[in-house]
Amino acid sequence: MEVSALAVDVVKNYINGRWVESKAKETRDVINPATSEVIAKTPMSTAEEANKAIEAAKAAFRRWRTTPVFTRIRYLNRIRDAFEDNYEELCKILTMEQGKAIDESRGEYRRTIENLECATSIPSLQMGYNTEDIAAGIDEMVIKQPLGVFFCVAPFNFPGMVPTWFWPFAVGAGNTYIVKPSEQVPMSQVRQFEIIDKVGLPKGVLNMVHGDAEVVNAFLESPDTIGMSFVGSTRVGKLLYKKAGEYSKRAQVQGGAKNFLTVMPDADLERTVPALITSFYGCTGQRCLAGGVLLAVGDAYEPLKEAIVEASRTVSVGYGLEEGVQMGPLASKQGMDRVLSYIEKGLEEGAELLLDGRGIKIKDYENGYFVGPTVFDKVKPDMAIAQEEIFGPVIPIIHVKDLDEAIEIIHANRYGNASSVFTSSGSVAREYQYRVRAGNIGINIGIAAPIATFPFSGMKDSFMGDLHGQGKDAVDFFTENKVVITRWF
Ligand code: NAD
Repeated sequence: MEVSALAVDVVKNYINGRWVESKAKETRDVINPATSEVIAKTPMSTAEEANKAIEAAKAAFRRWRTTPVFTRIRYLNRIRDAFEDNYEELCKILTMEQGKAIDESRGEYRRTIENLECATSIPSLQMGYNTEDIAAGIDEMVIKQPLGVFFCVAPFNFPGMVPTWFWPFAVGAGNTYIVKPSEQVPMSQVRQFEIIDKVGLPKGVLNMVHGDAEVVNAFLESPDTIGMSFVGSTRVGKLLYKKAGEYSKRAQVQGGAKNFLTVMPDADLERTVPALITSFYGCTGQRCLAGGVLLAVGDAYEPLKEAIVEASRTVSVGYGLEEGVQMGPLASKQGMDRVLSYIEKGLEEGAELLLDGRGIKIKDYENGYFVGPTVFDKVKPDMAIAQEEIFGPVIPIIHVKDLDEAIEIIHANRYGNASSVFTSSGSVAREYQYRVRAGNIGINIGIAAPIATFPFSGMKDSFMGDLHGQGKDAVDFFTENKVVITRWF
């Protein structure tokens, strides 16, 4: 494993097919959250460096868009194979910098590879359409053309996968691209780019610049970029969406979430509880599709509450690199402090702790940012723990009388990323999918995560824009429908 080769280095930018040291004065420590050791440093690159990447991508676009589509996707296939060849190493790096359990990293990389696989369908996804004789002897057609330089701004929770919601589709369609990883977790992208570099993608087609607001602002302000895909908090997303409008950029902004999971009295509890546990505690609750609130309807409440606490006690917490560990630490000290402050807030607002994950000590990893499974009862809809994104392993339970009350609570929340119902009634399930305003609906599924061929949806404050990441939506986002009307004399 080559992980140590990256250790405590300042990670480099990848511009125009070359690894370039940033001239940034400021760096940010990359910390293994299970051990609190510094494992690398991220440079806060300058606007000048961001512009160099744009220049490279702009220059590469001229040739790349004329590269036949099957040649373009051959590169994607090779990158896909190279990721597969380095699969375990990539998963380990991901766990080291982000903290999630190794099996979760494996799941994330499976999805990463699936995104590449889906983008290899570009020749059919990017097909235009035509109509003959719109008037006598006149034909009309739509050709879907690539546009130029796009970029993404990625969050800390899925450092391996999120950029592949976008760039394989952009590049496959003939655009060129710049990835800006989260400064908290740059190493997964660094390793991916080392692998991509060996595959020999033409220079400038895919670039990476590390940093924060200065880099992103330079991308948005440049006349030479076309659009941005942002994934992160709603607070930052709104700021950037506004700025993207100001600079006439295309933008798709995937923001924060508070996902409500509703359990009806007729749910099959034995199979529902494990799904709920994965939903709330998977990735230590740091998932935009994570369960945020558990709505227990009517008679479901008592047995569900007991079963949830019992199942929560059995979740094994530890260093994600150890096989069998189900839940790793929070990804940062800041993230841990945020979760702890929400637990305090819940208590202050009168909720009752049924299981307290604070102060958990993991042998050999006493300095890790661990919080154990935590369950709150007697939660009211207006409490902070029921309203805001905690991004940690906390289950707030609200007892509601019926489906209408559940949906009322869901709709009063600002977010609309995902929501699930557990029931054995087809008509309840149908009503739920019909009425609930959330972009991803689960029916007896805890994490309704769309696969690569489907749009990664989201509504309300969880998404700004119209075309989503992944699949056909992504292809539409990265292309323009040019209408051509022809008549030959
Ligand atoms: P964040 O908003 O703090 O950061 C996201 C990215 O924005 C980072 O790359 C960061 O460098 C950049 N950034 C931060 N401040 C900026 C500024 N002022 N100007 C320009 N760029 C700036 O988010 P995070 O903490 O990394 O990620 C967690 C959030 O992401 C959660 O809210 C989670 O729900 C959300 N998320 C959403 C989805 C989705 O699909 N809806 C998926 C994953 C994560």
